[in-house]
Amino acid sequence: MNLPLYNFFADIPLWATIGGILLVLLGLGYTGASLWIWAIAGAAALYGFQAPVWLWAVYGGLALVMNIPVLRRLLFSGPIMNLLNALNFLPTISETEQTAIEAGNVWVEGELFSGKPDFKRIMNEPYPDLTPDEQAFLDGPVEELCAVTKDWDVFQEKKLPDAAWDIIKKERFFGMIIPRKYGGLEFSPLANSAIVQKLSSRCGPLATTVMVPNSLGPAELLIHYGTKEQQDYFLPRLATAEEIPAFALTEPNAGSDAGAISSSGVVFKGDDGHLFLRLNWKKRYITLAAISTVLGMAFKMFDPDNLLGKGKNLGITCALIPTDTEGVILGRRHDPLGVPFYNCPTEGEDVIVPIDAIIGGVDGAGQGWRMLMESLAAGRGISLPASASGGSKLVFRVASAHAKVRKQFGLPIGLFEGIEEPLARIGGFNYIMEAARRYTCGALASGTKPAVVSAIAKYNFTEMQRKAINDGMDILGGNAISWGPRNMLASAYMNTPIGITVEGANILTRTLMIFGQGAIRSHPYIYNEIQGLMNNDVKTFDVAFTHHVGHTISNKIRAMLLTLTRGRLASSPVGGYSAKYWRKLAWASASFAFLADVALIGLGGLLKRKEKITGRFADIFSWLYLAAATLRRFEADGRPKEDRAYLDWSMQYAFGEMQRAFDSLYKNFDVPLIGWAFKGPVALWSRINPLSHGPIDKTGHAVAKSMQTPGEQRRRLTEGIHTPESLQEPFGILERAFRLAYHGDHVARKISKAVRAGTLEKGRPAALVGKALEAGVINQEEAALIQDAEAARNEAIKVDSFTLEEYMRTAVPAGSSTSSSIEAGGDGMTVA
Ligand SMILES: Cc1cc2nc3c(=O)[nH]c(=O)nc-3n(C[C@H](O)[C@H](O)[C@H](O)COP(=O)(O)OP(=O)(O)OC[C@H]3O[C@@H](n4cnc5c(N)ncnc54)[C@H](O)[C@@H]3O)c2cc1C
Repeated sequence: MNLPLYNFFADIPLWATIGGILLVLLGLGYTGASLWIWAIAGAAALYGFQAPVWLWAVYGGLALVMNIPVLRRLLFSGPIMNLLNALNFLPTISETEQTAIEAGNVWVEGELFSGKPDFKRIMNEPYPDLTPDEQAFLDGPVEELCAVTKDWDVFQEKKLPDAAWDIIKKERFFGMIIPRKYGGLEFSPLANSAIVQKLSSRCGPLATTVMVPNSLGPAELLIHYGTKEQQDYFLPRLATAEEIPAFALTEPNAGSDAGAISSSGVVFKGDDGHLFLRLNWKKRYITLAAISTVLGMAFKMFDPDNLLGKGKNLGITCALIPTDTEGVILGRRHDPLGVPFYNCPTEGEDVIVPIDAIIGGVDGAGQGWRMLMESLAAGRGISLPASASGGSKLVFRVASAHAKVRKQFGLPIGLFEGIEEPLARIGGFNYIMEAARRYTCGALASGTKPAVVSAIAKYNFTEMQRKAINDGMDILGGNAISWGPRNMLASAYMNTPIGITVEGANILTRTLMIFGQGAIRSHPYIYNEIQGLMNNDVKTFDVAFTHHVGHTISNKIRAMLLTLTRGRLASSPVGGYSAKYWRKLAWASASFAFLADVALIGLGGLLKRKEKITGRFADIFSWLYLAAATLRRFEADGRPKEDRAYLDWSMQYAFGEMQRAFDSLYKNFDVPLIGWAFKGPVALWSRINPLSHGPIDKTGHAVAKSMQTPGEQRRRLTEGIHTPESLQEPFGILERAFRLAYHGDHVARKISKAVRAGTLEKGRPAALVGKALEAGVINQEEAALIQDAEAARNEAIKVDSFTLEEYMRTAVPAGSSTSSSIEAGGDGMTVA
């Protein structure tokens, strides 16, 4: 029996009706319409088709169950929750993991994870600038500090010069994050980052020495969690480096798994009736420990007699231990790959401190892990990314100048396509890093603690820097291998693995944190689903699960339509040149979000152990963020036409990396029931219709050419590093030779043209200058220019050499720590 209703589809051909319905359904899915709109749309279709009563009854029943929460919980989400619990579907999340997951907030990465990012929000997030005070500090004290610190001398002496320490103390370099009311500089995250960036372009150990007290350590912990007495006492002394801090977490059996520390602090009552802690520890790799006056110590706290009334096992706790306390053992040093900063083991044997040495006092007992995770959620986004960015800007300047100056086979090597490729990679990475550095600092300045974004920044910046320094070394060849005062890359090369290892070693950060923990944090519903499951809270689970189902369907439809249209269906927050990239970002985000859901639902708790899968997801997630930051930069910079090649390279690379990760995910996607579809048709379609194949040659050529062109753009793109122009400095020598080589090009071309025309006989251009002048091919000024360029070139490509005595020496003689210099026109190294 049909209901006697008007069939408004009656006059429309069947194919058009079905097509129309499909379009409506796709439209609803694409826009992520809510459940009740779906219900109305379904009812309209049944009505139009004059559906039989039984179908109305089934449909009506389903619609009611899905739209009335009490019924839905009873008949749908409740049973599913019970089933998932019975199957142990959830990953087991330890307490330490839970704290790590909960630390910090979700920022724009939540948009990218949603599959339907709000690009206006991404565009409206700040892309900050330094304040005039901060800029003045960079132009003043930071430049001064760089000027007195010579990298080669630091490596020879194995310590910073006294002049550097004087400036560090006088200008309060250790107080960058300390509020002004305690005598600190209270700089923004961007200023902190800019300072570390500049220092690291001058001398790695200098940057490390300054960055450590300004990242996770006593000052950071005291500012957020210290008692008033602790803040009033320590912060002013830390700001002036009267107290030198170190932070001790890592142990022989607790590296990446820092929650496994076994150092202990036991509460006891002293003879005077006061409470004390008896500490024992064995720590290693502790930066600055050898010269520290106060150790921030992480340990497990026990209160066997429950003197604090908080139980016997209180958990990880942080305390401040003066290093002159009896039982503190210091003095030994590690040698971190020859990079001379203080890095040390320390032991504590029955070290006794009052109970109020705990950061935050008695209230802080057992809160150490939360403190550390919350601080890391922000801190990871500043220091190491800044140091990677400074290092790679230096590589940009050095490698591009060298490529222009160094000639082989009669040509500057920068003209060879083989060199263009790594050069463009250096240029592109620089563009991306600067974008993400400033964008991330903007979030941190607004008080956000984007745990996933800071892990993305830490991992990807240090990896990009590793590739950039390797590329730089290759381009410089023997010039980079021969170590001495002229070599500007060797020490950065040695420093590189340190950034990879600290603050969350990179393999772990990629495979466990960015997606493994990041998915739980950034996914719009997973966290609440897990909470619901863990707490048997059907209400929470129901809301999250129902939305999750709709979210997955919507993302499937979005991903499908966006891949079919290559992103053209998506809207862009901006018009013009970069709009195509925003649209592609929407496409990539939808595909990522859908695939992530399939993995999360299909693999459940197993996914945590599938690190090869989570690692590839982390790559896509990372490049979604880095691409968004780069697009944000292009707008913030005012869309400079001359930067288009850098934007293109960055986008082609970012989408190429996402594509690579998607392809290898499809190949290895062993999800029950539907894995075959991804390995087969989806993988095939992805190969036919990829996001990108990576940077194309034409783009790489444009980037490499721009890098080898002196002028404002080259300066702007590497702004923020130390660029000493003196001819006593290798940087100054190389840059001068670079400019002369560039400006001498047209003279060399005139001479070559005259040779081709038979006006001049063949020969080396330099040898032909006199003849060209005599023949009137070039004028006096041009002859002088090309001779200068040739002399500067020969100077710039020199490498250091040593007498046997100098070579065998382990350190330069005392008193000459800041005196090594390069004499322009000299031969090899001269230590004055
Ligand atoms: C120069 C230097 C300075 C340091 N400064 C300090 C300091 O001031 N204070 C301090 O407390 N600590 C410091 N550290 C310690 C640093 O944080 C640790 O080195 C780091 O946590 C890694 O520990 P580990 O070296 O023992 O490596 P391990 O934990 O042994 O890791 C070895 C490898 O296994 C990988 N790995 C481990 N677990 C997993 C997993 N679940 N999944 C995938 N891969 C995994 C890691 O990524 C790494 O590649 C410093 C270290 C160095 C080298």
